Amino acid sequence: MKIYCLCGRIVDLDRASAEMKFRLRKGAECAICRNSRISREIDEIETCFNGSAAESD
Ligand SMILES: [Zn+2]
Repeated sequence: MKIYCLCGRIVDLDRASAEMKFRLRKGAECAICRNSRISREIDEIETCFNGSAAESD
């Protein structure tokens, strides 16, 4: 089953995963979007961590 990611890339999902995403009302996410989301989350955590470390310096 092929679904478009928000970025326009085609995500290839098997039927069960596609139905689960629809049920959870989650959009399909291609590998590139997933990776960038994960790295953005890591950046946010590190910024938070570094920010509080810098303040105490
Ligand atoms: Zn994408």
